[in-house]
Parts: sequence; C-alpha cells; structure tokens
Amino acid sequence: MPELPEVETVLRTLEGRIAGRKILEVSVLYPKLIEGDPEEFCRKLTGQTFRRFCRRGKYLFFGMDEFWFVSHLRMEGKYYLQKPEEPLIKHTHAVFLLDDGMTLRYNDVRKFGRMRLYPYDTDLDSFHDLGPEPLEDTFNAEYVSSRLKERREPIKTVLLDQHFAAGIGNIYADEILAGCRVLPMRRACELSEDEIVLLVSETKRILAEAIKAGGTTIRSYTSSLGVTGLFQLSCTVHAQKKCGRCCGEVSVRRIGGRSSYYCPQCQR
Ligand SMILES: [Zn+2]
Repeated sequence: MPELPEVETVLRTLEGRIAGRKILEVSVLYPKLIEGDPEEFCRKLTGQTFRRFCRRGKYLFFGMDEFWFVSHLRMEGKYYLQKPEEPLIKHTHAVFLLDDGMTLRYNDVRKFGRMRLYPYDTDLDSFHDLGPEPLEDTFNAEYVSSRLKERREPIKTVLLDQHFAAGIGNIYADEILAGCRVLPMRRACELSEDEIVLLVSETKRILAEAIKAGGTTIRSYTSSLGVTGLFQLSCTVHAQKKCGRCCGEVSVRRIGGRSSYYCPQCQR
C-alpha cells in the first residue's frame, strides 16, 4: 500500500506531467470508484484544469478551477499517462482525456481506491480527522508527548493510527521504530521524553529520505509508464532477514493485526 512518501512521489510526478492540462472528457468505467454521483463527477470535471497539487496523509488533492478533486489510491491504485489509441487494460476504472492529446488513466486491480470532489472551502486540517502531517512543524515532541500519554496500546499501533499522524503505514512505522531503537510492542505511554524526541526526528528523516529516493527513481520514467509509488527505501528491518544496522537476525511478530519487523538486538 502506498504510504506518505509514495503518494507524495505520485503527486509530484503527476504535477510535472499534467499541471495546466485541461480535462476534455471523463469516463468512469467502475462507478463505485466515485463517492457521490458518477455522472455528476464526470460532468463537473469536464472543462476543468489541473491547477494545484497537494497531499494530505495518503490523499492526493488536485486543485481544479472550482474545487478539489481528491483521490485515494488505497491498496493498489495507479495512474498512467497514455496515448488514447493504446488499448485499455483490464483494471482501468477511469479515463481523463487531456487537452494535450494524452489520457490520464486510473487503474486499480483491488478496486479499493476512491475519488471524490470537495469544495475549495473544505478544511484540510481536519480532513477525515487526520492527524498532523509528520513533515510539518505541528508534528513535534510536545504534540507526540501529549498524545502518547493517554495511549496504552503498542507504539507501532499508534504510529499506524491516521488520527495520530497522517500518512504513516506499516513499512515506515517499522523503519521509524528501528531508527529510534524502540521495540514496536512497547506501550506508547511508556516512551521516555528522549525516545519521543528521537521518534519525531527519525520520522521526519526517514519520510524525507524516502521522498527523495522516490523522486530520484522516478526521473527515469518514460511517458507510457505508470506512476505506481513503489519506491520504498531499502529498509533496515521491514521485510528483512538481517538488521541493516547490526546484521543480527530480524524478528517478525503480529501487532495489531499487522506484521511488524524489528531487531531485538538494536531495539528496546
Ligand atoms: Zn540490529
């Protein structure tokens, strides 16, 4: 599942490719993709131009002339830019004909992704009750400390809670905890102030590096390839057999229903 850095990479890649492009025609091939009336969605978007590109958590926000066009990729949503004559593949659920002759296509094998239009006066700070953006100053030790005090569940579970912080998923939660040497099953309320300071700085460092890595990888893209957002950093513990720091064996355990990778040597 794409997490914050992958969604940011998709957003910036699309910005480079479709900013200023007007939508001439919209077809939705899987109506459940759209929250709200699919016909209204198509009608409203026709004639609108992609003006702004923002992200909130794992949501893509395309600022059109008159409203936000919001897209969530969920498990496997992908955007492709293709020539109109290229055949549609099986899981293409929406096609946007652009004024430069290209089509922006949305593909989603799992069909979990969603799209919806929101008015420009929507409060993005409280959007879906998302917590602060981890890369912004509002995500700081004071905030984290105040929120962790009341949480008795494992710190890994809290990191995945989108109300606590927006955009962190299973991979980066494991990597952040490896970075600050905290075991994922530790009770959130028992982290020390020093560990919280480190948690904040490692969160920012790891997400920023992952965005940078995605940005680097994506430059090699050619026009017909998809924007998939699978540019995770080489991980220290997540899905690894050996710890990237000490080379010791990595352990894996289910925490809150998710596979959690950690190094029992480096993390405590
Ligand atoms: Zn280790």
